[in-house]
Amino acid sequence: MPQQGKQLYEGKAKILYATDDPTLVIQYFKDDATAFNAQKKGTILDKGVCNNRISAALFAYLESKGVRTHFVKQLDERSMLVKKLEIVPLEVTIRNITAGGMSRMLGIEEGIMLKPPVFEWHYKSDALSDPLINDDHIIAMGWATAKELSAIRAESFKVNDALKAFFNDRQLDLVDFKLEFGRFQGSLLLGDEISPDTMRLWEHGTRNKLDKDRFRRDLGSVEEAYKEVLRRVLGESQVCR
Ligand code: 5GP
Repeated sequence: MPQQGKQLYEGKAKILYATDDPTLVIQYFKDDATAFNAQKKGTILDKGVCNNRISAALFAYLESKGVRTHFVKQLDERSMLVKKLEIVPLEVTIRNITAGGMSRMLGIEEGIMLKPPVFEWHYKSDALSDPLINDDHIIAMGWATAKELSAIRAESFKVNDALKAFFNDRQLDLVDFKLEFGRFQGSLLLGDEISPDTMRLWEHGTRNKLDKDRFRRDLGSVEEAYKEVLRRVLGESQVCR
């Protein structure tokens, strides 16, 4: 069992700790929440517990569907053991239904079904608010190779197919989500987290939002939304504290 070492990095929602195994790190989930590039800050009680458990369950599910991820195992209620990645400085977004950034950028209403889904690359930069970029920017800047981009794209669509089906079975629409990938011993692995912080989930029929948009837009019942997603992901008997 790897022992927790020094803090390597503190982000907006997570802290990474070294372990005595240089290939493994501990990802700790905080209750801190930010939105609009950290202009809005707050705390969502037990968000860290929910997101750790939701991410652990979704990584394990995706592994069972042939997606290679950094997830090793859940350690406790707020931490998971993950492989230490060399993060590719890109964020992938896949959109199945219009919302958020796409609605703003193109001046279109939320809730329009997108067929086929829309794939976006964003450059991972808080200072620049993660700008939308294309393959040419990435290759010209040397952030990833063309071969890596096609592998990430194919893997991201595999994630979309698997997660859409998973949430459909739980009466939730997967509106959109963000993924990050990293290099590990010559392969690309899915990293970061998959949680209501990083995806939009709408309840079937009512289109009630069960994700971080409740915090971003002051919709209320924020904690309840995270707990409801956890309940649906794990099954009826398992709830957050
Ligand atoms: P949008 O571009 O519409 O703001 O985000 C699309 C999807 O990706 C949403 O589900 C959103 O939660 C997620 N996403 C995009 N960028 C970020 C980010 O920097 N941090 C987090 N936590 N999620 C993001």
